[in-house]
Amino acid sequence: MKEDITVLGAGPYGLAIAAHLRTIAGLDFRIFGDPMWFWKNQMPAGMLLRSDWGASQLWDPAHQYSLEAYQSATGDKFSSPVPLAGFVNYGLWFQRNVVPNLDTRKIVEVASEGSGFRIDLEDGEILKTRRVIIAAGICPFARRPAKFENLPRELVSHSSDNVPLSRFQGKKVAVVGGGQSALESAVLLAENGAEVELLVRGAPPKYLGWRKKIKSLGPVSKLFYSWTDVGPAGISNLVSAPGLLRMFPRDSQDYLRKRSIRPAGAGWLKPRLEPVTMTCGRFVTSAKPAGSQLRITLDDQTERTVDHLLLGTGYKIDVTRYNFLGPGTLAKIKTTDGFPQLDGAFESSLPGLHFLGAPAAWSYGPLMYFVSGTKFAARKLTHTLSKNARKSGT
Ligand SMILES: Cc1cc2nc3c(=O)[nH]c(=O)nc-3n(C[C@H](O)[C@H](O)[C@H](O)COP(=O)(O)OP(=O)(O)OC[C@H]3O[C@@H](n4cnc5c(N)ncnc54)[C@H](O)[C@@H]3O)c2cc1C
Repeated sequence: MKEDITVLGAGPYGLAIAAHLRTIAGLDFRIFGDPMWFWKNQMPAGMLLRSDWGASQLWDPAHQYSLEAYQSATGDKFSSPVPLAGFVNYGLWFQRNVVPNLDTRKIVEVASEGSGFRIDLEDGEILKTRRVIIAAGICPFARRPAKFENLPRELVSHSSDNVPLSRFQGKKVAVVGGGQSALESAVLLAENGAEVELLVRGAPPKYLGWRKKIKSLGPVSKLFYSWTDVGPAGISNLVSAPGLLRMFPRDSQDYLRKRSIRPAGAGWLKPRLEPVTMTCGRFVTSAKPAGSQLRITLDDQTERTVDHLLLGTGYKIDVTRYNFLGPGTLAKIKTTDGFPQLDGAFESSLPGLHFLGAPAAWSYGPLMYFVSGTKFAARKLTHTLSKNARKSGT
């Protein structure tokens, strides 16, 4: 059977794999998705990327479409930390260059059928394909603790809902969480004129200031940190080699994954947090509407009345929340803790169905949560798929 591939998703992972697949002669592949959708629509205006310059590159095989190439082609000048708007425009430029034929329609269902898949598009068109690469990102995995679930969005939102922060000028907002997303949301809210209290369940937030200091040592810093900018000193080099990491015992892989994504903020956030009140070692026990406001009680029984509560509570991978995968298809995908178990070519237990990005982190480690993981993932998967294509005589 002729090898043909459908890529679902046009964020950093979908675009990187598409940029690589187009180098396989004669391969029939198509890619669907709104380019850089998550970055364009679900992140706060004014955000800066936490990953450094080298780790914020998108990958095509010759690395022809780097951030530097984008800047010299367009004159859009910015430096590290990379601003959100610059990164989005870079991604759109990358897409126009590597996959100008991107189809922006949404896929409503991927169904396992015979030895392939049926793809249902939002406008009712149906396609058949032999192989599907899912690069759909983390948006459906936003973690909303149950106690906030039934409250209206005007009172409680998740950082991924991207409620415009300027709306809270002169209002009281509580932000829950101690990672980059919570800290940066708190800063941006305060800079937009809100009165902000950050509620951190654990110890005061950690900052990644050391990383910058060590990196300033030049080549020696490579002993401690990989260019991928993922994981703490020492561990960083190990998790930047997912092929090696996969050979470690399961417990060690789990430890290294969790250790590499502990909540922490970029060093440059610290001075900007000055106007934010920080309450650490406390958590919300209940939240109830009080007129147009929200009354929250903490575990020390203190109460606050706020205009809004913003959850910077992160994401919990669970592929059953990809609503384009129906129960019949999901039943064929072996998972652990919501992550699909993937083989050496990012293929799930359902032959022909691959996952890239965060869902691949159980199998390939924490690098898969970040943009810098696109280089490894796209190269590794393309290597296998080009072998398959040669075998099937494409
Ligand atoms: C606030 C925040 C800040 C972050 N900052 C950084 C950072 O500084 N550096 C970093 O490396 N990572 C950062 N991340 C992580 C970042 O989300 C990932 O690195 C990156 O987006 C992963 O790319 P992706 O291609 O897997 O997913 P996404 O970028 O989410 O792309 C998913 C794509 O799938 C498409 N799609 C989804 N469903 C369908 C469907 N049914 N049909 C068709 N298309 C579909 C979407 O339209 C989109 O094009 C951050 C995350 C958050 C939440």
